[in-house]
Amino acid sequence: MQKLPSLREASVQGKRAFLRVDFNVPLQDGHITDDRRIRAALPTIKYLLERGATLLLCSHLGRPKEGKVDPTYSLQPVRTHLATLLGRPVNWIADPFHLQPLEPGSVSLLENIRFFHGEVQNDLEFAQILAKWADIYVGEAFGSVHRAHASVEALPRLMKEKYAGFLVEAEWENAQKVLTAIEHPYTVIVGGAKVSDKLPLLLHLLPKLDRLLIGGGMSYTFLHATGLPIGKSLCEKEQITAAKEILNQATALNKKVLLPQDSVATTEFRSDAPARTFPHEIGAFPEDYMGLDIGPATIQAARPFLLGSRTILWNGPMGVFEWEPFRNGTAKIAEFIAEETQRGAYSLVGGGDTASAAELVGVADRMSFISTGGGALLELLAGHTLPGIAALLS
Ligand code: AMP
Repeated sequence: MQKLPSLREASVQGKRAFLRVDFNVPLQDGHITDDRRIRAALPTIKYLLERGATLLLCSHLGRPKEGKVDPTYSLQPVRTHLATLLGRPVNWIADPFHLQPLEPGSVSLLENIRFFHGEVQNDLEFAQILAKWADIYVGEAFGSVHRAHASVEALPRLMKEKYAGFLVEAEWENAQKVLTAIEHPYTVIVGGAKVSDKLPLLLHLLPKLDRLLIGGGMSYTFLHATGLPIGKSLCEKEQITAAKEILNQATALNKKVLLPQDSVATTEFRSDAPARTFPHEIGAFPEDYMGLDIGPATIQAARPFLLGSRTILWNGPMGVFEWEPFRNGTAKIAEFIAEETQRGAYSLVGGGDTASAAELVGVADRMSFISTGGGALLELLAGHTLPGIAALLS
């Protein structure tokens, strides 16, 4: 396993650390509605402060128009909240162009880095300006490591001393358990809305896994590809060939695949639409119904399918879990994963909505690891080189 340069090995006393974090939190009327991303960076922040470093924190927030200051996306609410969490003042740096001495041992937060030209273009000159602020670079923005942006890629490449923060380190090491250091049998559970989002991951993981459970909206394209009826369930016509290829490859590689045998379905995409269960058998699934959750026969088949797994990766809900009537499939599969974890399997949950689904159905604390990365985790699982990781290794 390739190890990232660890902060634990760094001497940070008296050094200025440029700490790239992911403080891209949801805001409503200027208030933070979920501060998990800020709290997730606290161990690294505290570690650095306790060892006498001076911190400059840098993050993006939302998608402001490139290079334009837009108060809607200011990090000021984050600054206030961070100061409360740390119990100490957080200084404000309005822009990176006016270099100023940072008080030794202090914490400062730079305004939304996407307000400035050069960040999104991964501009070298902009990175050189950022580099003047610091002696060491610490990459702690796992949610952004798949972006080749200046504060994520060009800057750490310029810096002599660069380290992974604790969050990035943990994400990386846990990802290796489902990518390179795999214990078998290895079960991959994928779901969610779109085949196209998950295709790179499926192609990369297929040779590594032993069992593959496909559920959620994306499973209907696969069922359709096998010639089974799906009514008006989600179907990506342009992905049917790819779905067929995945299934053929799985057979050729002797992998076990479980597709939904039945679905909880409705005639309309509404939370209160009357639901009925139908099997995906010729003549049995009505044309005017759409599957919004896996049904009881699928859930029953999934239990022995997961049994004895040593490694489980779960990405994507089994149905429209946001609506209570279609949450059961996701809740049951999540429970099975938790039970296997209790028996000693390693389980990684994440990507897209999966972490929030696991929390909603109350199993998050029984999984081995819940990833905080959406797109970044998906790219890692697809075998892609992530710019922010490669830069730390350079
Ligand atoms: P993803 O971000 O790709 O993991 O997709 C998650 C989304 O897929 C959630 O918002 C679910 O509501 C949605 N989803 C899951 N199953 C279905 C389904 N059978 N039909 C429509 N949407 C679904």
